Amino acid sequence: MAGGWSSDGAVQDQIDATIDDAVQRARSELPRGESLVRCEECDATIPEARRLAIPGVRLCVACQSEHDKKEVSRSGYNRRGSKDSQLR
Ligand SMILES: [Zn+2]
Repeated sequence: MAGGWSSDGAVQDQIDATIDDAVQRARSELPRGESLVRCEECDATIPEARRLAIPGVRLCVACQSEHDKKEVSRSGYNRRGSKDSQLR
């Protein structure tokens, strides 16, 4: 079987390249720039600890959790149509 699997090294190179690519893409998608001192939505002061913990943070804790809830309900509960029709 000697010589038949000479591409092993190339495959490993490809995997390494893919990981490098993913790492670089992830890095470029990290939030950048200034954390906001005041919440973008409600104008509350964002604690310094939060600003340091989340670079580029834009929302206060309360608004962020509201935001997260909306994300969940948007992706998780799409069956309101059938419920409304039962009320008729
Ligand atoms: Zn807020």
